Amino acid sequence: MTTAGGATTHFWARQALLDVGWAGPVRLGVAGGRIVSLEPGQPAGPGDERLGILVPGLGNLHSHAFQRGMAGLTEIGGSDGDSFWSWRELMYRFLDRLGPDSFQAIAEQAYVEMLESGFTRVGEFHYLHHDTDGTPFAARAEMAGRIAAAAQRSGIGLTLLPVFYAHADFGGAPPSPAQRRLVHDIDGFATLLEGCRQALQPLEDAVLGVAPHSLRAVTGEELAALLPLVDGPVHIHIAEQTREVDGCLAWSGRRPVQWLLENAPVDARWCLVHATHVDAAEVRGIVDRCAVVGLCPITEANLGDGVFPMQAFTRAGGRFGVGSDSNVLVDAAEELRLLEYGQRLQLRARNVLAPDPSQSSGRWLYEQAGLGGAQALGVETGLRVGAPADLVELDDAHPALLSRDGDALLDGWLFAARGGAVRSVWRHGRKLVSDGRHLQRDAVAARYAAALHKVLG
Ligand code: ZN
Repeated sequence: MTTAGGATTHFWARQALLDVGWAGPVRLGVAGGRIVSLEPGQPAGPGDERLGILVPGLGNLHSHAFQRGMAGLTEIGGSDGDSFWSWRELMYRFLDRLGPDSFQAIAEQAYVEMLESGFTRVGEFHYLHHDTDGTPFAARAEMAGRIAAAAQRSGIGLTLLPVFYAHADFGGAPPSPAQRRLVHDIDGFATLLEGCRQALQPLEDAVLGVAPHSLRAVTGEELAALLPLVDGPVHIHIAEQTREVDGCLAWSGRRPVQWLLENAPVDARWCLVHATHVDAAEVRGIVDRCAVVGLCPITEANLGDGVFPMQAFTRAGGRFGVGSDSNVLVDAAEELRLLEYGQRLQLRARNVLAPDPSQSSGRWLYEQAGLGGAQALGVETGLRVGAPADLVELDDAHPALLSRDGDALLDGWLFAARGGAVRSVWRHGRKLVSDGRHLQRDAVAARYAAALHKVLG
């Protein structure tokens, strides 16, 4: 069942979504965490793990894991019209009570839920660096180490994106007291990155990137100083809110994405998270630079951000992936479903994203989000020799998948399954989810319950 060192484990799937399309049956060999052989049309060998429907795991390109612990706590409007900004105030109050142990327990719970839903790697946009009073921990990367430990315990692949945060608003405004746990200068951040590198060493295939938080929190000079510090992915929150666009225009005369394209070396390393409010020229600019747009449909809907012009972007060749961001609800299929449905509601039409009208929406969404997610997370994806053995088995006995083949299986999963369609998950060749349950679910849930009692009780 488990692969270690050079031993090869074999899987046999009735149907599998390979890089080149559906095939079945398929026999796969896995060793050292990677796919080492693919044999379409072969019968199962003795001792093979027999599977129903096999698809590559999906990357979750944007998460703030600790926010899972405050999910559902901000659904009361308030007197002055609730918005992203009042949500952020509650988030800061939650942070005030969150120590390293609780932080790690909540992250473990979030990662277990991600794996159970079919996400096999997470891009952790990690900004909670310092102790509750704002003092740096003796080990600068204490909290990043907790993220690494949560990834290791849950087994999820980790692309760690340490966040540089220095200012409260455009033009280098000083940070507010509520932001004391987040802030660094460039030298302090370089020290943090060294600690992050050490924290990631025990993980088999972690990736280190960097995340300038947003154009509100980082000046142009700081952005230029940050980029050479890491050679991995670069992620930034951008143009999520109209107030942010207005603020950027007032500060610079440019819209946020416009400013970024004119002033930063945006390329395929970059992931523009949200990019909700973009005009046609900005859409063209992102496509030309081969950057990924990181869409977080559930969180964007929850926060009332707006709707990204997805159809125009993808028809122009734009690359995208999905993220669970605030983790108010963790569900890979739901992210893709809501991505498509948001566009359908806006465009008043069906099947609006897949460019070829004969194409399945589910297949197109899953494959494209897989490719964009992998690019943004700095890894490879797909069922092919040499790719990571990050595997998701769908339950062919699930009511939404019965009597279906090929693309209709993905349409059934993404659009028709209430949940429970993911039966098994392997990450780096290791089985983590069986019969829909993470193997450590109960122990993780017990630690999570204790943490929430402490933070919210
Ligand atoms: Zn975010």
